[in-house]
Amino acid sequence: MTSTPTPSLPLNPKKRVPLLKNFTHLHQTPDHEHSLPVKQTKTHPAHDDPSAPLKASIYFIGTATTLLSYSSIRILTDPNFLHAGDHVHLGPGVTSTRLTDPAVPDLDSLPPIDLILLSHYHEDHFDREVENSLNRQFPIVTTPHAKDCLTSQSKQEPFRNIHALDTFQSLQLPIEGDDSNRSAVKVTAMPGKHVPPGPLAVANDLLGAVPPTNGWLVELGKTSTTTSDGFETGYRIYISGDTLMVPELKEIPKYLDGEKIDLMLVHLGGTTIPGKHMPLLMVTMDGAQGVELMKLVDPDVTVPIHFDDYDVMLSGLDDFKKEVEKAGLSGRVVYLDRGDRYQFGVRGG
Ligand SMILES: [Zn+2]
Repeated sequence: MTSTPTPSLPLNPKKRVPLLKNFTHLHQTPDHEHSLPVKQTKTHPAHDDPSAPLKASIYFIGTATTLLSYSSIRILTDPNFLHAGDHVHLGPGVTSTRLTDPAVPDLDSLPPIDLILLSHYHEDHFDREVENSLNRQFPIVTTPHAKDCLTSQSKQEPFRNIHALDTFQSLQLPIEGDDSNRSAVKVTAMPGKHVPPGPLAVANDLLGAVPPTNGWLVELGKTSTTTSDGFETGYRIYISGDTLMVPELKEIPKYLDGEKIDLMLVHLGGTTIPGKHMPLLMVTMDGAQGVELMKLVDPDVTVPIHFDDYDVMLSGLDDFKKEVEKAGLSGRVVYLDRGDRYQFGVRGG
């Protein structure tokens, strides 16, 4: 096997790129976390060791929007800050209404962030207001398709700092500045299919209705001089993205090769288009598929997200809870409300 060095995108919290185009403040204060309205902090359901160093957390904002905090950096996933009653356009003839409010009202209310991780270019994951307000230099890691869209010269203001990852490609994010303990994050694109294989996929490719999507493996750890990829993992997070339970997902345990996922964020909702009055095509996992994915990936802890924020999501959290209980997996799931945070320790810290 040839080992090619993992491409690198350094993050420096001392020299953050402003998040917004028309920023009112620089978002440069390093400890701004108090500004997050945290409802409840949850920890591991089984080994709640109060002496374990709690060094990282996931804060659930709503839909697939979460804020990952590790070391001195923060990564925002799938930014959607629309409110109840707002509409999104999800493809030809498909619109959907948001039913919930995000835990944080807008991008400007966030603590300083360093990177956006975008699973796919779809309005319920990257709403139009977010797109319009973002600084074009802000770094975003996403799919090749989303990169093409966001950097297209046909856009009035194309984005200029987009990094595309195709399935199983990785990007290392060493944390620079005053962080002397070599903290780093490694992001790897995982397979995902938003449309079931077969004639519908062919039709969708032609229509361009539902964009291609990534899942993510987000590893928290340190840079290393002794491993072949220059990275030492201390915690593995798998984010499913908007996928169905398709054969491609079986590549994930093969890729992991016996390494354990600590935390899985699973996009549920059983999103069905065009909508509940004409439930023709399910494009995200329902409760039963979510449990199937738990069995396939076998994460230590699972946190469901993306389950009730839009009226096209027909499989709510109860559906998943029922399936989890039936499978005897209740002790392996942590349920977060919008505004809750899951805190965990990273090995080797
Ligand atoms: Zn979605």
